Amino acid sequence: MSDHSLFFIETKCELITQVCGTCGIVYAVPRRFHNDGKLSYCPNGHHSNRASAAVLEESVDKLREKISMLYAENERLERSNRSLRAIVKRGKK
Ligand SMILES: [Zn+2]
Repeated sequence: MSDHSLFFIETKCELITQVCGTCGIVYAVPRRFHNDGKLSYCPNGHHSNRASAAVLEESVDKLREKISMLYAENERLERSNRSLRAIVKRGKK
């Protein structure tokens, strides 16, 4: 039997996942680092911070808004197209 005692130390660390906006790698940082919003680097060395995440979210929101506008425009054009076809069809009779 060994004279050495074994000590088990349990630690807890809450990790927050992040996605690098440059290379797309998903990694985790302790909540403390996530919350302070300081500049950090992804495992591949790209700059990453919460500000850039906020900018990405803003871009996504703008793109969603643009998509909605394009769907609405597409619907309007389809209605216009149907009306014009009906007029052409009536004119041919
Ligand atoms: Zn990266």
